[in-house]
Amino acid sequence: MTDTNEQDAQDLFRRIPKVDQLLLRPAVAECIAFAGRELVVAEIQRLLGGLRDAIRAQVAGTRAAATDLLDAERLERALADNVRDRLTPVLRPVINATGVVLHTNLGRAPLSDTALGSLSALSRQYANLEYDISEGCRSQRDRSVQSLLQETLGCEAATVVNNNAAAVFLILDTLARGKEVVVSRGELVEIGGSFRVPDIMARSGAILREVGTTNKTHLGDYEAAITPDTALLLRVHPSNFKMRGFTTRPGLGELAELARRRGVPLVEDIGSGCLADLRPYGIADEPMVRESLDAGVALVSFSGDKLLGGPQAGVIAGEEKLVAPIRRNPLMRTYRVDKLVYGALQATLDSYRRGRALAEVPVLRMISMTKGELARRARGFARRLRAALPEDVRVRVIDGDSVIGGGSCPDCFLPTKLVALESGRARPAAVEARLRSGEPPAVIRVEEDRALIDLRTVFPEQEAVLVKALARAVE
Ligand SMILES: *Cc1c(COP(=O)(O)O)cnc(C)c1O
Repeated sequence: MTDTNEQDAQDLFRRIPKVDQLLLRPAVAECIAFAGRELVVAEIQRLLGGLRDAIRAQVAGTRAAATDLLDAERLERALADNVRDRLTPVLRPVINATGVVLHTNLGRAPLSDTALGSLSALSRQYANLEYDISEGCRSQRDRSVQSLLQETLGCEAATVVNNNAAAVFLILDTLARGKEVVVSRGELVEIGGSFRVPDIMARSGAILREVGTTNKTHLGDYEAAITPDTALLLRVHPSNFKMRGFTTRPGLGELAELARRRGVPLVEDIGSGCLADLRPYGIADEPMVRESLDAGVALVSFSGDKLLGGPQAGVIAGEEKLVAPIRRNPLMRTYRVDKLVYGALQATLDSYRRGRALAEVPVLRMISMTKGELARRARGFARRLRAALPEDVRVRVIDGDSVIGGGSCPDCFLPTKLVALESGRARPAAVEARLRSGEPPAVIRVEEDRALIDLRTVFPEQEAVLVKALARAVE
C-alpha cells in the first residue's frame, strides 16, 4: 500500500459513523421500534463491518467506489432493508402459478376455508381432544375422525398418525415384526422424499418376501409364498410411476379372497387417499379408498394431504381387530398428531360427508375446474396483464397441461389454458427469478423461452397481486 493510499484509507475509515451516533438518528429509531434494539445494533455492526472491508478492498485497488454507503441516508436505507429482510419469516405464503396441484415443495394440499375455521377455533381455545363431554371422563383422541371415516369409507375402525410413511411403518411394526410380508416385485417403489418400501420394511423388523417379477405377478405367486410365517400380504400403489406393455397383477378382489381363504390379512398402502371419484376429470389410475375396502382389503393406509386435500396426516382404516393393536403399539405415542391436524382433517372429511368436497376442498376444486372457467380466467388475466405491461411484451393464451404432482398420477395431464409471456427486454428465466424473490413470492414455469402462468393453482384473490408482481418482474 502506498502512502497516499494509506492516507485515503484513514480518511475513509474516519468517516464511518459510530454505532452510538447512528442509534440516535430518527430513521434508526424507527427501525428499533419495530425490530428491537438488539437486532438493529447487530445489523448496524454487520453493515459497518462490510463497509470497512469494502474500503480496504477499494484502497487495495480490488474494488471501486465503496464509499457510496458512507452517505448517511444510504446507510440508513440499507439498514432498514436489511432489518426488514431479517424479520421476514423463512416460511411464508407463495403463489403457485405452476399448475402442479399437489406441489410437494410448496406444501402439497392447501386447506379449505372450513378446515381453517376449525383450526382457528380449536387452536385459540381448549377443546375436548381426549375428553368425553357426555361422561365427563377421559376418552380416545382419534374418535372425532374415526366416526367420520366410518361414515365416508364404511370401515369398522380408523386411526390417524403424522403421515402415510409413519402409517405404513406402524402397520408393519405392529402386525409383522419378525414375520414375513409378501409383496410383488413390481410394487417395491420409492416415493419422493426417501420413502422406500424395502427400507421401511427392514426398519420395522418385518421380513420382505418378494414375489413375481417386475412386470408380472400372478395370484399363484402370492399363494405359493404364503407359509405359517406370513404376517400379511401387502399391496402398494406404485404412485409415481406407470408400467406399460406386458404387465399383470391380480385384481384386488381375488387377492382379498386368497388372503381370506388362507387366513392372512391383505393390507394396502393406497398412497394418495382419493375419496371422491375423479375419473370424470381425467384421473384414472388413483385407487379410491372406498373401492379397496369394498373389494375386501382388511386394512388400508393413505395420506391426508394428497388427493384427499387435507392436512399432512396418515390415515389407517379397516378391520377393528387390526386397528386396535396398532392403537396400543407404544410407538403410536411417537407418531400421534395434535388437535390442529384432527381439526383440519375433521372439517375436510365433513366436506365429503356433506357432498360438498368438489366445491370446498381446494385440491378437488382445482382438479375439477372446467375448461370454460380456465379459459375465462386466462383471458381476463391476459387482458389485465397487457394493460399493466409495456407494449412490447407479448401476452397470449395458449393450450397446455396441468399435472397432479405430489408423487401421484404420473400419467394424468389436465388440459388447461396457460398465459404465456414473451418479451425481448426480459429473459423468461430472469422474470421467473424476480417473481420468486418478490413479496409474496410467486413460482411459475419457464418452457421454450416463455414464461408460463397456469391459473388452475392460483387462487382468484391472488390474481391482482400476480399481475402487479409480473409488471415489476418484466420492467
Ligand atoms: C406418498 C406415498 C407415501 C408417503 O406418504 P406421506 O404421507 O408423504 O408420508 C407412501 N406410500 C405411497 C404409495 C405414497 O404414494
